[in-house]
Amino acid sequence: MRAAVLTEFNHDWQFQTLPDPRPAPGQVVIRIRASGMCGTDLHAHHGHLGARLPIVLGHEPAGEIVELGAGVLDLEVGDRVGVFWNQKGCGRCATCQSGRPGHCPAAQSWMNIGGANSELMLAWASGCALIPDGLSFEAAAPLFCGGYTVMSGLRNGDPKPGERVAVLGLGGLGHLALQLSKAVGVETFAVTGQADKKPELLGFGADEVLLAGDNAGAALKAAGGADVILSTTNSAKQIAAAFAGLRPGGRYVNMGVPDGPLVIDPQILMWGQRQLRGSSQDERSDLYETLTLAAAGKVKPKIELYPLAKANEARERLLAGKVRYRAVLQHQA
Ligand SMILES: [Zn+2]
Ligand SMILES: [Zn+2]
Repeated sequence: MRAAVLTEFNHDWQFQTLPDPRPAPGQVVIRIRASGMCGTDLHAHHGHLGARLPIVLGHEPAGEIVELGAGVLDLEVGDRVGVFWNQKGCGRCATCQSGRPGHCPAAQSWMNIGGANSELMLAWASGCALIPDGLSFEAAAPLFCGGYTVMSGLRNGDPKPGERVAVLGLGGLGHLALQLSKAVGVETFAVTGQADKKPELLGFGADEVLLAGDNAGAALKAAGGADVILSTTNSAKQIAAAFAGLRPGGRYVNMGVPDGPLVIDPQILMWGQRQLRGSSQDERSDLYETLTLAAAGKVKPKIELYPLAKANEARERLLAGKVRYRAVLQHQA
């Protein structure tokens, strides 16, 4: 199989022909049709995730199962599937035994068995989810990290009827958070520093677009504040400033990897019972809900398509901040 391989951190991925993978018991082989490119791929590319080289990146896979390993009972050859980050827990620790294998400290991910920037990908069957009929591989791919992550964030932020959600950081994750929040019927503000995105954000369903300079908190406060802030920005400074935009009882849900230490005035949390929550891919039902809403046309990932052969160019554009929402690599059928 052809694959884009990271052989040296911070260097272009090499296109190599690797042996076709064979599934171990419990695993499947997927012919990849599309793979999304996530901000976390940049962290891996720079060596910040501790990946062991050489490695194939790509953790937003979408494709068709071509081979089943022994003991795989609930998937079939030909199934259209995607794979999420933590595919399988150890099965034996307290976290796994209590039913949350995705949070197992020893969970297996693409970092253990290889990612999606290749013709074929190995995955644990327990890490695969069916792609609903009518949802293309290209549109499904970004939902397996970006969509899943922000739907969990929305559920963990737990907006009540009549509450107001603000989405901070309107890129690959944020534009999905905005649409998901609207799709479940919550008043939703978009908070962005990029004025040129306003028409698109209104098109995604934003009730209001707040143009915030480097102080999202002040802009939000002036607009009446938010009960839940879904934060996908990586700027620690922006996160700290945005807290001031939380109403009393508000929940700040952080889903971005901050670019530095986070300094928050504890008094903002204390007076008014505000909370800081962290969230990543959580309940499996969050992914199912995301896929179902996308199949119903209520959430539409905004994607830029690149052939797999242009993976390096797509990564450079993402690094330069030129990818507006989500880059998806297309693999030949
Ligand atoms: Zn990701
Ligand atoms: Zn475990």
